Amino acid sequence: MPTDRYGVFGNPVSHSRSPRIHALFAAQTGQDMSYEAVLAPLDGFADAVANFREETGGPARGANVTVPFKEEAFRLSNRRTARAEAAGAVNTLSFDDDDILGDNTDGAGLVHDLKNNLGCDPAGRRILLLGAGGAARGVILPLLLEHPAELLIANRTEERAVRLALEFSRLPDCAVGVKLESIGYDELSGHAFDLIINATSAGLSDAVLPAPTSIFAPGSLAYEMFYGRETSFMKQARTGNNVRVADGLGMLVEQAAEAFFVWRGIRPRTAPVLAALRSPG
Ligand code: NDP
Repeated sequence: MPTDRYGVFGNPVSHSRSPRIHALFAAQTGQDMSYEAVLAPLDGFADAVANFREETGGPARGANVTVPFKEEAFRLSNRRTARAEAAGAVNTLSFDDDDILGDNTDGAGLVHDLKNNLGCDPAGRRILLLGAGGAARGVILPLLLEHPAELLIANRTEERAVRLALEFSRLPDCAVGVKLESIGYDELSGHAFDLIINATSAGLSDAVLPAPTSIFAPGSLAYEMFYGRETSFMKQARTGNNVRVADGLGMLVEQAAEAFFVWRGIRPRTAPVLAALRSPG
């Protein structure tokens, strides 16, 4: 049997840890598959996907999609899952003849990391989501489905947070009983949260967010979606009272595991893979 082929499309993409993660998943579960990083030209994502599907060597079964192509992948998909529709972005494609199914596993990845690796069940919690870009949008529905007590969204450009809160509160059923609102950074003092998620890209430039340290309730979890180094957000959280701090590497591994499950119907164990990624060398 020819080997099933997968890849991750991005620009840049050489830094991507997805090939290593999926190689570890495949070895662990005994799946015969290859997974490569594909650098797509900024103006040539659809062509790059088409070329990948036409290559010989084995059937192309699927792909992950990263920055900046998630919205284009959404448009390229002729069918989409509900969570991809809600996110407005696709990070997982499944190919079958002419059919391209678009999915988004980022939110499930975050929720799995919170519940299974960090022992933080969002149910009944007061959650503050910082940021209103693609990553924030992708995690709102999966978080709401966990029935937190409240989900407040703060963003530098306030109207984006206002729009997101309004849009998701209109979705049928999912936000029943959940206080879903936007809040300005300047209104945050006096509010404390059990789970504070930084979904901004401030970590890339190590910019300091204009949020007071009082947002971190004693015993809360500060979750930084960025990974690779300690950010200003993580440093600030550590000055709070008994605040636990996590980076987004667990989310990365968990979203990959969810994609692997979508493609192969097998859920790999993530703990050994996360440990391998965290071990030096
Ligand atoms: P976007 O570019 O779509 O959104 C960026 C967001 O950050 C916007 O809300 C923007 O606010 C805000 N922002 C940027 N700079 C600042 C600043 N200096 N102060 C305050 N707010 C700021 O990015 P994404 O949503 O795609 O990604 C966000 C982060 O999530 C990145 O760090 C990315 O690496 C990470 N991520 C991690 C994943 C994982 O698996 N761990 C998966 C996906 C993303 P404004 O609207 O005002 O511009």
